[in-house]
Amino acid sequence: MIPEFYDNCGIQGAYVPEINCILVLRDSALEAVNDPTLIEAFLVHEMMHASAHKLIKEGWFRSPYDETYWGTFLEEGWADLHRGIYRSRYMELKSLQEKLNYDNLSTESIVPIRFAKDNIYLPIPVKYLHVASDGKVRYSITAFAGYALELLWRKRPDLRDAMKEARTLFSGLERVKSILDEIHRGIYRALQLGGYTEDDFVNKLNMVISKFYGGLPSFIDGEREKLTEELKEVWNNILSPDRRKIF
Ligand SMILES: [Zn+2]
Repeated sequence: MIPEFYDNCGIQGAYVPEINCILVLRDSALEAVNDPTLIEAFLVHEMMHASAHKLIKEGWFRSPYDETYWGTFLEEGWADLHRGIYRSRYMELKSLQEKLNYDNLSTESIVPIRFAKDNIYLPIPVKYLHVASDGKVRYSITAFAGYALELLWRKRPDLRDAMKEARTLFSGLERVKSILDEIHRGIYRALQLGGYTEDDFVNKLNMVISKFYGGLPSFIDGEREKLTEELKEVWNNILSPDRRKIF
């Protein structure tokens, strides 16, 4: 049953709340082209889901008093942000450095990901990426939620404590809701609604960058201290013809 589950879903791990059980596939091909911390980090992601098992009936970060459904984006953000923290601490950069072909990358370097469908680019830190067994650089869609949440935490560091509290106490769920709506009225509901699809997650990261960082050019401008000269140039070209205003 378990090999079929992975083949059918094409995913690395899952948390099954009904039996409070985590499944993670130890894919030796992926370990070989990355490093063992990639799979360990998938385990961290699933363990972070499991950290809410006492409140699971209420539906992840959904407050019991609101009308939204599941809060998947916040939940996946919570799990994947912690995966990112783990990767940032322990990953080896060698294979991503080779595949991405940028010099002097760090785990926090923000590289552009292009979404052909909407003709947009979004930044993603290297720690959220990996090399797939076919040699291509890949991401899991939850990375967009993880990074969006990271950017929200930057704006309101108390959101982090509230989310931690929300894993075990209803009062934390209410705090999460009120902090988000203090940052921007209606943002809690906007993040909560929607499906578990790449389009949804990409749109929500885009929304966080637009609403809280003044849009992509202004966000990249704010990150310039952290960018290598090469990445500045790459972003510069992407954001052209406004580049003179940016760098
Ligand atoms: Zn997840």
